[in-house]
Amino acid sequence: MKFGGTSVADLERIRRVARLVQAEAARRPVAVVVSAMAGKTNELVAWTDGAGAADPALPASDDEYDVVVASGEQVTAGLLAMTLRHMGVPARAWLGWQIPIITDDAHGRARIDEIPPENLTKTMDEGVVAVIAGFQGVTRGGRLTTLGRGGSDTTAVAIAAAIGAGCCDIYTDVDGVYTTDPRIESKARRLAKISYEEMLEMASLGAKVLHSRSVEMAMAHGVPVRVLSSFIEPGQGDGNGTGTIVCDEEEIMEKRIVSGVAFSRDEAKITLYGLPDTPGVSSQIFGRLADANVNVDMIVQSHARAEGAANMEFTVGKRDAARAVEIVRAAKNEIGFADIAVDEDVAKVSVIGVGMRSHAGVAKTMFSALASRGVNIQVISTSEIKISVLIEAAYTELAVRALHAAYGLDKV
Ligand code: ADP
Ligand code: ASP
Ligand code: MG
Repeated sequence: MKFGGTSVADLERIRRVARLVQAEAARRPVAVVVSAMAGKTNELVAWTDGAGAADPALPASDDEYDVVVASGEQVTAGLLAMTLRHMGVPARAWLGWQIPIITDDAHGRARIDEIPPENLTKTMDEGVVAVIAGFQGVTRGGRLTTLGRGGSDTTAVAIAAAIGAGCCDIYTDVDGVYTTDPRIESKARRLAKISYEEMLEMASLGAKVLHSRSVEMAMAHGVPVRVLSSFIEPGQGDGNGTGTIVCDEEEIMEKRIVSGVAFSRDEAKITLYGLPDTPGVSSQIFGRLADANVNVDMIVQSHARAEGAANMEFTVGKRDAARAVEIVRAAKNEIGFADIAVDEDVAKVSVIGVGMRSHAGVAKTMFSALASRGVNIQVISTSEIKISVLIEAAYTELAVRALHAAYGLDKV
């Protein structure tokens, strides 16, 4: 069972969570993963920013960033374990390093390498509920790490895989995965089931209901995942027929062409003008960014009219934008571009569906829906099961609603 930030936002909610855990623990051994209280991690990140963590001009302190931002989960794990004990349910809190959840050393976005299950299963077999601090791990060298924002979901699925759990239930503040963020579109519908692949795309493209790496991990290890609301009492609404099950495509009877619309405002567009149109230029640019651990998403290259000169546009996460510009600018002479510009006033809107593989005209519907609302498309990228466009940020909600309607996803 995993509980997100809103579900453990105060002591009253922690007591509600404890009642859900108590009911489950009466039936089978349970491991619980918790996030920090809602808003806590943002506050901690802001403190590290204040201390210079986001300043590309200062020495990197990503390892110390992790020490700070991992602390929110320690509090909720301890409080939930304590509350369970007061209710007569044996429980103990576990920090990432105590289990241990061993990760690589990519601080701030670490990947889990290994979770030896013995420590957990030993106490669980003795009837003690394991309450685990999500989002955190430890390197082989003994330093604290965090898994990237929203990473508690990944802790939960990884723990489920490690201990061989029958299911990983993600309790959150919505009662399932919807066709789009229900906060943006009230006509969004809950999906009874969604395939791992579609969920992975939705999550990677901005639907923060699940951390994308948790879906990747669930798919790789065949962990059945259920998304449920924590705003229920034991026995209420947690049976079959509620929530969303993330499962293999073959298990889904009702096939849709488009299953959902996702969006991300966490984008920044970087444009390089007047690049030499010669082999090796892209490798120069993206090699440098990769070495600095900057994730690049959409990339478009276009030939300028002038003989031998090209322009290049690519997107990175907003938090990486300043660093990316710095890195590229520092190699201006080697790369040989004329000018660089950055635009943070952009958003990415995507439509996702496995049905796209076998249906023509999906892109056409998207482009005409956006055109009819006067939304200009800056960059397009596609895969087998998604189409993404980069647009001006101000049009995000309009675009999401237009696409939701255009693909017949609106609740009737
Ligand atoms: P938690 O703190 O429980 O991890 P998050 O805030 O990370 O919760 O994720 C839940 C939120 O995800 C919901 O409140 C909802 O606004 C948002 N969301 C975005 N896209 C979707 C979607 N397609 N379906 C459901 N929720 C979504
Ligand atoms: N507390 C962390 C965050 O806010 C992890 C999580 O909630 O999943 O990103
Ligand atoms: Mg989350």
